[in-house]
Amino acid sequence: MQAGHLHTAKIDALMHDEKKESPAVTESLRGYQSEVEQLLEIASRKYDEVRFCFFSDHGMCTVENVVDLMPAVAELDLEYGVDYVGIYDSTMMRFWFLRDGSEAKIRAALPDCDHGRWVTDDQHRSYGTYWPDGRFGDAVYALEPGVLLNPSHMGNVPLDGMHGYRPDHEDSYSSLIANFEPETPVERITDFYTLMREMATWAQSADAQRRLCCDACRRRTRGGRHHGAGRVVVPHALCPTGSPFCAIGLGRDGDRRSRDEQASTRARLSHGGRLHHCDRPASPGCDRRRPRDAISLLLSLSGPQRGIAQTARQEGG
Ligand SMILES: [Zn+2]
Repeated sequence: MQAGHLHTAKIDALMHDEKKESPAVTESLRGYQSEVEQLLEIASRKYDEVRFCFFSDHGMCTVENVVDLMPAVAELDLEYGVDYVGIYDSTMMRFWFLRDGSEAKIRAALPDCDHGRWVTDDQHRSYGTYWPDGRFGDAVYALEPGVLLNPSHMGNVPLDGMHGYRPDHEDSYSSLIANFEPETPVERITDFYTLMREMATWAQSADAQRRLCCDACRRRTRGGRHHGAGRVVVPHALCPTGSPFCAIGLGRDGDRRSRDEQASTRARLSHGGRLHHCDRPASPGCDRRRPRDAISLLLSLSGPQRGIAQTARQEGG
């Protein structure tokens, strides 16, 4: 086995029911942390090198206000399916205007206000949701983060937590934690796909491309392994923070972070992670090649904005 990926939406359901602030969420993350530590322990005994990555697909916003907006449209002198079509999610109302005049009436019935506003074309472009052919609606009325549309086509039971609000809101952030420094620049959630490909490709090519250090070299680097160019990966037990994870930055649902910000985050956190630099040359025995076993492991949880190692740090102050 060279790569494994586990995805679960259990925390998503928990945060919908009990809000993201619930102790039950922390408890659940703590359970994942324990299982992941056991998994990495087992994997490190079987494989020479283990890459692990944890990420989530969206954040979660605590619902503060529930609004019922469907009647405002239904009571207009417009016929559903003839004059317009509306799809009502928990966080947005999407419309297709089928006849002249329906757009003006619906926009007037749903004015921009504290609980929602129409998404402009410029906003759609910045979010990556601009589709001139209207495949996801001619217009979108988006609710403000924390405002829930209920009833909607998603159901008629209001929930305590919801996601799907505009991506530049802080509660839309997702989480990314890895025990290595990815080559993939992660600036938005869609970059996770490239990161997953990187991990799968790395595991396949690791055997052929990487070197196993000789015993003398290992002793000199306190158990670390040279990987060429003076880089030494120090085992978890020697990490100054005692953490098996090295946070490399947060991905947002849609917002694009600057490369400089990402780089500074990596630089700041790499001191506490596993990747260290060694300026000593590898010993002569290091240039012999030997097959190695390597594995990439991914865990994706639907929902949390904090990861398993971050939970441990919060608890430890
Ligand atoms: Zn959900």
